[in-house]
Amino acid sequence: LVRLRQRLAGSQSALGRGLLALLSRDRLDEDTWEDIEDLLLTADVGVAPTQELVERLRTRLRVEGADAGDVRSVLREELVHLVGSDLDRRLQVSGADGRPGVVLVVGVNGTGKTTTVGKIARILVAEDRSVVLGAADTFRAAASEQLTTWGERVGVDVVRGPEGSDPASVAFDAVKEGIDTGADTVIVDTAGRLQNKAGLMDELGKVKRVIEKQTPVSEVLLVLDATTGQNGLIQARVFGEVVDVTGIVLTKLDGSAKGGIVVQVQRELGVPVKLVGLGEGADDLAPFSPEAFVDALLG
Ligand code: GDP
Repeated sequence: LVRLRQRLAGSQSALGRGLLALLSRDRLDEDTWEDIEDLLLTADVGVAPTQELVERLRTRLRVEGADAGDVRSVLREELVHLVGSDLDRRLQVSGADGRPGVVLVVGVNGTGKTTTVGKIARILVAEDRSVVLGAADTFRAAASEQLTTWGERVGVDVVRGPEGSDPASVAFDAVKEGIDTGADTVIVDTAGRLQNKAGLMDELGKVKRVIEKQTPVSEVLLVLDATTGQNGLIQARVFGEVVDVTGIVLTKLDGSAKGGIVVQVQRELGVPVKLVGLGEGADDLAPFSPEAFVDALLG
């Protein structure tokens, strides 16, 4: 929580502190409620969620009045509710019947996909799990080199193919190696070219199918860059149509004042944010906790 607070400081906490200051005014008049809405919209909370939150706050602070408790705890409760305290955010990294779990990582290039794969591998290795990485982004030589560097850093095998080779065949080989070596988890990095939705659908569909010839995919993580705002939402929509996303990773939250996007992408896809990226370093990936997030916002 301390680290989350440090990382979000400056960018996000303006939202929390701003809300708290406005709600603490002696008189909550219409202008104040409008200012509150503006703050939420600026942070990318989205129109419908903003209206819902404001409605709930108005009701509680007006009707319950002093009985609602102090303003800070009411705001905290309502923000946690907004972000979704009842969603299952556990990462599914285990397989069944002695086979590895397979985590498929998808998203547009540049969002932090490869970095996230490396960071997840590091967390799993620290938990004494054996991991194999698959470099199924075969379109950019740099991508598989970057993943190989992560593999060396974390101490796990990376299965890759020649540049331009079939991503599905690399994914197949990676999962096969995972099965053959008795690995706990195989994490497959994919290419994210959005120019052509049909192409993307074909490619990711094929990658998923060849994996599932061997063993089920346990988790499909969509990586979104928190700094891209509404663009991230559009990406969520497209990927949601192309593949069954089971969890979201929101990267670069350390450099974004738009933390409200958490609320919007969850609603768009109907799946929870499971992890957040808080920097470029190997340790800068954290499970997403609404309570910790809201506490960091409120400072
Ligand atoms: P990919 O093309 O989606 O695989 O993206 P990369 O993993 O290559 O990441 C793109 C850039 O974003 C790199 O410079 C990463 O170091 C950086 N990056 C990834 N995650 C984070 C994060 O959580 N915070 C910050 N500040 N930078 C990140």
